[in-house]
Amino acid sequence: MQAIRVRGFGGPEVLRLEEVPDPVPGPGEVLVRLRAAGVNPVDTYIRSGSYARRPELPYVPGSDGAGEVAAVGPDVEGGPRPGERVYVAGAPTYAQMVAAPAAAVWPLPPGLTFEQGAAVGVPYRTAYLALHLAARAQPGDRVLVRGGSGGVGIAAIQIAAAHGCEVVATAGTAGGRALVEEAGALASCGHGEDARLLDLAGPRGYDVIVEMLANVNLASDLSLLAPHGRVAVVGSRGEVTVDPRQLMSRSAAVLGVMAMSADERRRIHLALGAGLRNGTLRPVVGPGFPLTEASAAHVAVMSPGARGKVILRVP
Ligand code: NAP
Repeated sequence: MQAIRVRGFGGPEVLRLEEVPDPVPGPGEVLVRLRAAGVNPVDTYIRSGSYARRPELPYVPGSDGAGEVAAVGPDVEGGPRPGERVYVAGAPTYAQMVAAPAAAVWPLPPGLTFEQGAAVGVPYRTAYLALHLAARAQPGDRVLVRGGSGGVGIAAIQIAAAHGCEVVATAGTAGGRALVEEAGALASCGHGEDARLLDLAGPRGYDVIVEMLANVNLASDLSLLAPHGRVAVVGSRGEVTVDPRQLMSRSAAVLGVMAMSADERRRIHLALGAGLRNGTLRPVVGPGFPLTEASAAHVAVMSPGARGKVILRVP
């Protein structure tokens, strides 16, 4: 099969298409013929060698994708059957096939494309974790998604809106702002428009802020919070100075978002499956690249002007 492989950490050019042996599903694994792969910012951090977790070289990048089940290994009980359409969340997907742990393979409901399926894994799981498990968003809460136009942002807007929250979102371009409003935000503005964000917060402030770039926005987030407000930090690319008094005066909290147990992960995918089936969750696919152009996709996912999820089309 064809796969992208990384033989040495570095820039996007280290992503090379190679011919590699087809994977064989071992015990507890499902073999998926992939049709699309999701490109997440973390894929670029890992590729560059700057991420805390460094895979052994050479490695096939990716974690998210979608396709059809080709075969099921031994000891997989009650899992997907050959031919079933699935999305993969947690196995190397920049390839034509992946032997994924059965726990990383979930049904792709009819009506969703493979590209949409490839947009589910990391973005929707992270958005759900941020809103429900970390910030414990409640119906009626005013939620600010700061960075709404990308993979996690669109997911967070849809999940919060489906939960009965009033959502405001930011984006860096007019196109991005139109997209976040289509996704369910009641209003939108630019990332750094603090006066406008204060207006849109209403008299209380934001009960929940889902933050994609904390090193730029965290100090401002704290000043926009309602009493007992919660900031869920999803993304940060550096350090930041904040005034802790902003937290004290509101009995507010800042929560990091990343780790989850295997059981939490399973429950999150069960919840996402319900939303994907009933149509409240509709992944928005942005720029698409052929697998051969994985390096261009890595440049795109780190460029401003997000319009949904960057994906790779697998031949
Ligand atoms: P993405 O699809 O590349 O989207 C990036 C988003 O950040 C876009 O909406 C972009 O808006 C926005 N942005 C740009 N400048 C911003 C600013 N000054 N303030 C707020 N937002 C800004 O990436 P993603 O998949 O949504 O991930 C977003 C961040 O979360 C990344 O840093 C990623 O590494 C991180 N992340 C963390 C976890 C975790 O487990 N904690 C999981 C997934 C992602 P415009 O392009 O419209 O300007």
